[in-house]
Amino acid sequence: MSRRLTRGDRLVLASHNAGKLAEFELLLAGSGVTLVSAGQLGLPEPDETADSFAGNAALKARAAAGAAGLPALADDSGFCVRALGGDPGLYSARWAGPGRDFPAAMQRVRDRLAAAGDPADRGAWFISVLCLAWPDGETRDFEGRIDGEFAWPPQGSHGHGYDPVFIPGGETRRFAEMEEAEKNAISHRARSFRLFAEQCLPAG
Ligand code: IMP
Repeated sequence: MSRRLTRGDRLVLASHNAGKLAEFELLLAGSGVTLVSAGQLGLPEPDETADSFAGNAALKARAAAGAAGLPALADDSGFCVRALGGDPGLYSARWAGPGRDFPAAMQRVRDRLAAAGDPADRGAWFISVLCLAWPDGETRDFEGRIDGEFAWPPQGSHGHGYDPVFIPGGETRRFAEMEEAEKNAISHRARSFRLFAEQCLPAG
């Protein structure tokens, strides 16, 4: 049986991003668990030096749980393209550079694909890994993935990051052409969060 949070618990979100805090507050509404962010607690932000999504999520969650003495939740996510061996993957944010230039990052994916040889192979996916760490060091992670294809040119004005070039399987529209609620119901993050909620949030 998995170790669960109980009603009244405080949970640290291992992030300094206000948007992520708002998103997770919404997801946790009604769960009985109160969220406080690593940013609000003034905790340091560890470098993401692991070589996997799960490794980076664990590194962030462990650091926050240890420093705060509270359970902590971290997420790591990315956009992966099959013909590029899973790139940009762990480097999804870095491909956009410090200026967060996602049009340039999407163009880089397009250029690499054109050079990779098989233009018919457009398989792509998003991954989200959530890690829950306890102050004693125990961790548990939850992976959500949505498969689809890379679509060029970028289209749509919703969402963020690589949303304008991703069509989820069974759909005709890109993530960026969907309403936020529609994307959020099927996304990689929705899937990892659902697993976490089923297994670790207070029952009932
Ligand atoms: P991190 O998980 O905050 O480190 O960011 C991972 C990066 O992956 C983001 O900066 C985006 O580039 C990309 N990414 C993750 N999830 C999504 C998504 O739902 N849509 C578009 N891009 C995403």
